[in-house]
Amino acid sequence: MPTQRFAIAGCGTAGLTAAITLARLGHRVSLFERAEEPRAVGAGILLQPSGLQVLDALGLRDEVSARASRVDRLDGRNQHDRLVMDVRYDDLVPGAHALGVHRANLLHVLYQTALSVGVEIMHNSDISEFSDPCGPQVSLTLTDGTRHAGFDALVIANGTHSHLRNQLPIKQSMTPYPWGALWHISSVPGLASSALRQHYNNAKVMIGLMPSGLLPGTEKPCQSFFWSLKVKDHAAWQAQPLAAWKEQVCTHWPQTEPLVAALQQHDQLQLAVYADVRLQRWNHGRVVVIGDAAHGMSPQLGQGANLALVDGWELAAAVLARNEISEAFAYYSKHRRAHLRFYQLASRALTPLFQSDRGYGLLRDNLFCAANALPYSRRQALRTVAGLKTGLLFERGLLLSPLPIATAPASDAKPLALMHALSDESPPDNSHCASD
Ligand SMILES: Cc1cc2nc3c(=O)[nH]c(=O)nc-3n(C[C@H](O)[C@H](O)[C@H](O)COP(=O)(O)OP(=O)(O)OC[C@H]3O[C@@H](n4cnc5c(N)ncnc54)[C@H](O)[C@@H]3O)c2cc1C
Repeated sequence: MPTQRFAIAGCGTAGLTAAITLARLGHRVSLFERAEEPRAVGAGILLQPSGLQVLDALGLRDEVSARASRVDRLDGRNQHDRLVMDVRYDDLVPGAHALGVHRANLLHVLYQTALSVGVEIMHNSDISEFSDPCGPQVSLTLTDGTRHAGFDALVIANGTHSHLRNQLPIKQSMTPYPWGALWHISSVPGLASSALRQHYNNAKVMIGLMPSGLLPGTEKPCQSFFWSLKVKDHAAWQAQPLAAWKEQVCTHWPQTEPLVAALQQHDQLQLAVYADVRLQRWNHGRVVVIGDAAHGMSPQLGQGANLALVDGWELAAAVLARNEISEAFAYYSKHRRAHLRFYQLASRALTPLFQSDRGYGLLRDNLFCAANALPYSRRQALRTVAGLKTGLLFERGLLLSPLPIATAPASDAKPLALMHALSDESPPDNSHCASD
């Protein structure tokens, strides 16, 4: 496709990845972000082998790793100290692992890379509407009335609560989850681990601790702490003395005491809310929707940022594979369907097992322990967590489309083809991208 002019709404993981890949293919990219400046906000993000493949292909894995923590396993225990969640990345392929990284550190690397490849990033630019997606070009109007015209395409990547996707004639829904999570970033020493650890009591209590690399702007190791909370109970939680809640946490998981002891005020814990976003398809004319705006989900499976990275990569692959924008976006929608639909379904099915008033805890514990005991189901659970599944049964697995922008993999990278060689499925045929 000849050089196109892309507008991207949203400077998060999805928008930045799409911007980098499209710019590296030689397209002109303008990224609109409503925030005034890049901010060091957010808790830890777990980068799975799926997302790490994209960072590898972009040549950014070493830079991200430098400020991230290696995570070798997920270790979730119930109130009887029974090991319910037992995922070891090493079983996928020797040396495989995930990375826990502060969101700001990941975004910093993507942001600087986007600038270095010529992406124009405009802050304080809150897009309120866009012109007919089926017209000859797309123009944008910002909330301050400014108009930007002359784009060949618009990529909507402005997160779960996007009001831009509502302007597309695509059947869609956004259903908030009743449960969210309080999170806090701590640099209290003595909690180091190479595992993401969780403690459950039935499905009503869930506490998580994830190594998250270095605190932005410092050399201090940090951890992300999560406490599951019903959104409607947040006001009551804020009204209760913090000491009562701290005692509750320590009763469930005494080892968190040093972290919990350092908390002095309620506002040191932020409430994260999630929603289940569904779109019948992700394209219409010259507009495509990616990232959380396209498929927001509960973070229970830890896939949000990873899917966003793969979306950004595959969008550029679709643009390379087709000669016309609307065809490329239709192709993207079709090509991403299997992977995205699997994780949307898995997220919807699994979230209530971890966050619910109902007695799903026992069911979850028995189900997961049985799955852990059988080599086939254990492997499927691992591949699910790793972000590599593209369907329930007889699936081919995730393999990134080839793009002529890939760089040499990082020193400790495990090429995805190798993962497939060791998996149950044969690698998919990606030759369409090179030939079309
Ligand atoms: C502030 C924040 C903190 C987060 N913290 C975590 C975390 O700690 N752990 C975790 O796993 N996930 C976190 N997430 C979500 C996680 O980053 C996403 O699942 C994943 O990275 C997908 O990103 P995305 O690019 O699709 O959306 P997002 O990361 O939500 O990015 C969307 C971007 O679009 C911008 N935007 C919104 N509306 C407009 C508009 N009209 N015009 C222009 N720009 C607009 C937003 O300001 C934002 O920068 C956070 C998201 C945000 C916005």
